[in-house]
Amino acid sequence: MSALGLDGDWAERVQATQRRVEGVTDALQGADFRTQWKTLADLGLLATPMDTAASDPMAATVADIEGLGRAGVAPGICYAVTSQIFGIQLPLRAVLDEAAWKRLGGALTGDVVLCHALTEDGGGSDPLSMTTRAVREAGGDYRITGRKAFITAAPVADRALIFARTDEGRHPFALTPFLVDLHAEGVTRSAPFAKLPLPDVPMGAIDFDDVLVPGDQRVGEEGSGLALLATTTAWERALLLAYALGPMQRVLDRTIDWARGRVHFGRPMGASHLVAARISDMALALFRSRQLLYGMARRLDAGERPRRLATDAALTKISISQDYAEFTRHATALGGVRSFVEETGLTADLFGPMASATYAGPNDLLRIGVARDLGLPVLN
Ligand SMILES: Cc1cc2nc3c(=O)[nH]c(=O)nc-3n(C[C@H](O)[C@H](O)[C@H](O)COP(=O)(O)OP(=O)(O)OC[C@H]3O[C@@H](n4cnc5c(N)ncnc54)[C@H](O)[C@@H]3O)c2cc1C
Repeated sequence: MSALGLDGDWAERVQATQRRVEGVTDALQGADFRTQWKTLADLGLLATPMDTAASDPMAATVADIEGLGRAGVAPGICYAVTSQIFGIQLPLRAVLDEAAWKRLGGALTGDVVLCHALTEDGGGSDPLSMTTRAVREAGGDYRITGRKAFITAAPVADRALIFARTDEGRHPFALTPFLVDLHAEGVTRSAPFAKLPLPDVPMGAIDFDDVLVPGDQRVGEEGSGLALLATTTAWERALLLAYALGPMQRVLDRTIDWARGRVHFGRPMGASHLVAARISDMALALFRSRQLLYGMARRLDAGERPRRLATDAALTKISISQDYAEFTRHATALGGVRSFVEETGLTADLFGPMASATYAGPNDLLRIGVARDLGLPVLN
């Protein structure tokens, strides 16, 4: 198999992780989300990169995530692992004090599942439209009331990084982040939504009904919500799509096998130039995505700050989500009817790639932000 843009050291790490995960395939097969989560955590795959021994921890983590996907772990699980590490753990590691970080230790061992709760029924791309409120009491604790919706892992999570309004209006300091215990009185989780993309990780809503949140569960200063959000989204835009590398490689490999083996019009299907060109375009999409992701990881390993990379992170996310959708379109065409029938083994995951244009900031809004950074007088 061609490594397609993966250099030697990382190729070895991807394969080593793939083999480790293949060793626990029996425990993963048919297991519920929490069992799969714990099984992968026991392999060390939920460790925060900076707490591992690797000298290039971000790139090593991207390689581990690719190995996870190559081992055939469901894309929804790969997505959830990647999201927890890059979108929650890493930004929190930078802002929590030692005691608060230690209290979160169970997240690294898989005993505590985290979720990132920003979006509300009214919308996700405009955080300042949120209505969830945190009201400070005389002793410094808070009371939170509101509803978060469309939250990955909400039905199974133990703690949520939530963003709530602590002041009125649309100014930059109106929101505050909290790490809320989802087993606290007044918290209700919905049943899992019947979601089309990434079905292996549940999504749901969380209702907060006058929930008492101790003051030490506030993350950072009051009013620092938008600043933390800028960091969590920069991490996600830079690296979340790493979850797709393993599934893309698997789909490419099986599509090549199919095109080589299937004979019609008196010759192998792969002897057609149009078929060959589609395979080549799939390889290009994977190559480009891999280069971007490992490139981002290398820059973060070199010490660049995520927020300083925000525009490049947005471009990375837009590029990979577009490539992933195009890649899937080719795979779907080449599979013919089998792309739509489960037992053929050639079904295409159309919803996953399409959803990547929406989460972590809709691509349309990211494009506006990129143009603004380039100097256009354009607002959202
Ligand atoms: C698989 C998946 C997992 C998710 N997980 C989480 C999670 O864990 N936590 C969480 O908080 N959220 C999560 N979300 C929600 C996600 O963050 C939101 O969908 C996203 O922020 C966009 O919000 P919205 O869907 O309300 O879209 P809207 O804000 O309604 O925007 C929809 C579309 O309208 C257009 N649009 C709107 N406003 C503008 C504008 N000003 N300029 C140009 N175009 C515009 C764009 O095309 C945009 O894509 C998830 C979503 C998906 C699909």
